[in-house]
Amino acid sequence: MNPENTHKRIQLNQNGSGKIEYCEGCDVVEMEMGPVSVRLQAQDLALFSTLIQEAEMHLRYHKLEKTKFEAGVIKVGEMH
Ligand SMILES: [Zn+2]
Repeated sequence: MNPENTHKRIQLNQNGSGKIEYCEGCDVVEMEMGPVSVRLQAQDLALFSTLIQEAEMHLRYHKLEKTKFEAGVIKVGEMH
């Protein structure tokens, strides 16, 4: 009935962790990771991408610091 409800899905990307589709009709990005499905406004995708990239960077940094800590390089470390 409502032409605005026409869903037009475009696959944006896919890899071993999941896939990301864009619905033109809803202007929504949908991420599928196994059984989990996350929807967000298309305009928020760049912000979400930054969130993931920075988290990955922080995790690598954390692991690096932990390795140094365990090796005795850092005597007093922040444990999270
Ligand atoms: Zn839609």
